Amino acid sequence: MPLKHPLSAINVVKEFNWQIEHNCPQCGAPVILDETDRLLTCPYCRTRLYLATTGYFQYHLPLPEATSREVIYIPYWRLKGLFLSVQDREISSRFVDTSLLALTSGVFPLSLGLKPQVLKLKFVLPEIRGQFIAPYLPVPEVINSFQRRAASSFHQAFIGEVVSLIYSPVYIENDNLYDALLRRPVAPWKREDMDLPVSSPGQWGLQFIPTLCPRCGWDLEGEKTSLVLLCRNCNSAWNCPTTAFEPLSFTVMEPGANGPLYYLPFWRLKVAIGGIKLTSYADLIRLGNLPRAITDACEEKAFYFWSPAFKVNPTLFLRWARQMTVFQPEGRVNETLPQEFYPVTLPAQEALETVKITMASIIADKRVISPLLPKIQTRLEESHLVYHPFTIGHHELIHTYIGMGIDKKALTYGIGL
Ligand SMILES: [Zn+2]
Ligand SMILES: [Zn+2]
Repeated sequence: MPLKHPLSAINVVKEFNWQIEHNCPQCGAPVILDETDRLLTCPYCRTRLYLATTGYFQYHLPLPEATSREVIYIPYWRLKGLFLSVQDREISSRFVDTSLLALTSGVFPLSLGLKPQVLKLKFVLPEIRGQFIAPYLPVPEVINSFQRRAASSFHQAFIGEVVSLIYSPVYIENDNLYDALLRRPVAPWKREDMDLPVSSPGQWGLQFIPTLCPRCGWDLEGEKTSLVLLCRNCNSAWNCPTTAFEPLSFTVMEPGANGPLYYLPFWRLKVAIGGIKLTSYADLIRLGNLPRAITDACEEKAFYFWSPAFKVNPTLFLRWARQMTVFQPEGRVNETLPQEFYPVTLPAQEALETVKITMASIIADKRVISPLLPKIQTRLEESHLVYHPFTIGHHELIHTYIGMGIDKKALTYGIGL
């Protein structure tokens, strides 16, 4: 059952997602998914299934009609997300929404252009005929190509909203390579030129998992883009890092305030840092030159990085990550799921990517921290989900402890992250 969303009264700016057409595994009816959807809800038979994979989601652009030709599928990386870069004196952000050829060949077009916006994608399944060319350029290398373009940058991070593989069909005829969608020749090309390694379609572990609580069998709750599903019966939270639900440790911060409340999810990350001393709150005060007294308690107090567990525009994302990390919020917590809350749409592993950026944003003098960043290593020791209480104001939600507000409008659109 969809959750009632208390923010639904305000204007929703729809971000542009590429769409996928798939037949309901239960009744066979066609279902349209957005590329960020993790839940398939069939409008005909009401089946709800969670989409899971052991790797990247893989799609293909479908042929306009059946053909007896031998079709070859060319791999492209689909990247959508935020590229952050620490420069000499500032942190810059750029929204990336693109497709890039996953091969080094000079023959194929470098991007898919507008095709995925015009055509509906389909999952790559084992029964699809054709040769699927294995991607040659791995994702980190493609992301590196953005980094090379970010001149004088000390550190960069890509926070992926979508990282998937999309195959586009071609065929060879009369010693020419044809785009199978446009049925136009692309370049002179002989069959013997096609010596690229082939991968088998459908070997990426797509699974449709019934959204039932693994502990008690109750229906799990979640919005269609939720990465974390909740069980109100046994009060548990679940995520799906590969192809099975796993319990997720979470707490809910008690509000310490009256009135209608809304909860936003944040990741609390315990990160082992190498190359710089940052294990206690006192270390952070010294590093950031923060206006706080260093007490013995600060020296003892374990230090956590914080990050929003939801996608929000880059400026707000960095502001909240920085403020929460500086504030190190703590208070009474419980483990009872709140009534009104925002879905988790950013995985902890992506949040970890922002840790060095958060560090750089806390330290006012970028000339000191920036050159150190390449030498700093980070390793996630523990992630914990915390729902933070906000009072609902006219235009914004206000954190009941920190007093900082977040514009409601910023929450209803996910552009930027
Ligand atoms: Zn169905
Ligand atoms: Zn349960």
